[in-house]
Amino acid sequence: MAKEPRLVVVSNRLPVVLEKNGNSQRLKPGSGGLVTALTPILKDRGGIWIGWLGTTERLSIRQLRTILGPASEEWGFRLYPVLLSDEEVEQFYYGFANEVLWPLFHDLQTRCRFDPAYWRSYVAVNAKYARVVARHTQEDDLVWIHDYHLMGLSAALKEMGVKRQYAFFLHIPFPPPDLFLKLPWREQLLRMLLQNDLIAFQTLRDRRNFLGSLRVLDRRTAVSGRGPAIKVTSMGYTANVAHLPISIDFKGFSRQAKQPDVAAQAKQLKETYHCKHLIIGVDRLDYTKGIPERLNAFRLALKRYPELRGNTTLVQIVVPSRERVPAYGALKGEIDALVGQINGEFTQDGWVPVVYRYQSIPRDELVAHYRAADVALVTPLKDGMNLVCKEYCACQVEDPGVLILSEFAGAASQLGGGALLVNPYDAEGMADALYRALTMPLSQRRRRMRLLRRNITQEDIFWWVDNFLRTAASKALRDFPESTLPPLFPRGRRTIRQQEAE
Ligand code: UDP
Repeated sequence: MAKEPRLVVVSNRLPVVLEKNGNSQRLKPGSGGLVTALTPILKDRGGIWIGWLGTTERLSIRQLRTILGPASEEWGFRLYPVLLSDEEVEQFYYGFANEVLWPLFHDLQTRCRFDPAYWRSYVAVNAKYARVVARHTQEDDLVWIHDYHLMGLSAALKEMGVKRQYAFFLHIPFPPPDLFLKLPWREQLLRMLLQNDLIAFQTLRDRRNFLGSLRVLDRRTAVSGRGPAIKVTSMGYTANVAHLPISIDFKGFSRQAKQPDVAAQAKQLKETYHCKHLIIGVDRLDYTKGIPERLNAFRLALKRYPELRGNTTLVQIVVPSRERVPAYGALKGEIDALVGQINGEFTQDGWVPVVYRYQSIPRDELVAHYRAADVALVTPLKDGMNLVCKEYCACQVEDPGVLILSEFAGAASQLGGGALLVNPYDAEGMADALYRALTMPLSQRRRRMRLLRRNITQEDIFWWVDNFLRTAASKALRDFPESTLPPLFPRGRRTIRQQEAE
């Protein structure tokens, strides 16, 4: 009897973080756009998530079962780990993924370190993920591969003779051909990507860039079809290529923002910060997010528009990330110094212009900040999509605020009508946009926010998943039914490394 096809998500990391407390370990839900997006989708549908556990510690099967089993049961989908060594984390994760692909794909080529050892590790670790996927999946399963860490996964699986349906989604931008072509392994990488049945990007801009690179390397590249998904033949492969902007659980955020305790928290915030106007910035620590540029623009706004002094506070939340990469440590130092300078220059009578929180904050507190903020400053230098701007709009449930959005965020192609679009490199333009947002009449704020909310409601996370599955496998979400969970791991005391050596 044919088995039910299952939805198998593969990403660099599992949607959890392993925390050590003395001798005991516990799982904490992870942070980031992908986790926020997919957890509600896999729940209760018999899905599988494969990824790295975020530790290089050697764990026995029994330990893994103890750690992951209850979480799988509780969350309604199974978690299977890929274990990485210190060297693999260094070369594959910090190296190729985050010192080559991340900066190159965000147009920051000068930050790249094209080390051949990084590339070799990338290929080897993709093959390692492939072995775990092969072990836990069956023919007909839809393997949904996420992001730039795993661009070689389907190619590695095909080389092993593993037949599945492969669909890939790139969460980050795809760079223009003149930048992509700087990559020493450009042709290998494109060939790997083309081995997916579906390759999907966030925006039309990214899809065009991808096709542009294919055309440079193979002049006979042919495209057929129209609309969000097209068929591409290039370098001897044929694949569907689509663009589909990721989104958020709009109703979930909106509902939470309306809860009385969140409303009360939101009301309290302006008193806590001693301000009349609250501006919010929420980002992972990353040089692509344009945090120093934003702080400089805020400083300029305080200089240009003195009436903002004493009453307008920027709350900048920075979630710690990749601190071991030197560029990230340097960025943190730069932000610390800038905040110190601005606060040193303008602080008066209990009012502090920048409240800087370098930490991950609980979701209800985040939602309260979104709800309370008169302006969201979302100004990345380049971003695949950016979910923070969508979350902010979902939480504008009373007296709507204004979204100031970078024209280089993927979200700008959807939200440009309602947001104030800015160039994050233009400090004067951003300072003026900030003043305009803070003095915008209510009728205009309402009109703009209505547009934004309508757009995000129509194209929320469920719309995204449904459309992705339809494009990848002509299936809707309901075609992946709820199922009971079999035991997580086979009995035995072998370590995962031993299993992998077999
Ligand atoms: N976020 C979080 N913890 C926090 C602050 C924010 O998990 O303390 C979430 C936020 O809700 C959003 C995600 O981090 O869903 C950031 O996603 P985005 O697409 O904006 O940027 P990314 O970090 O994926 O580049």
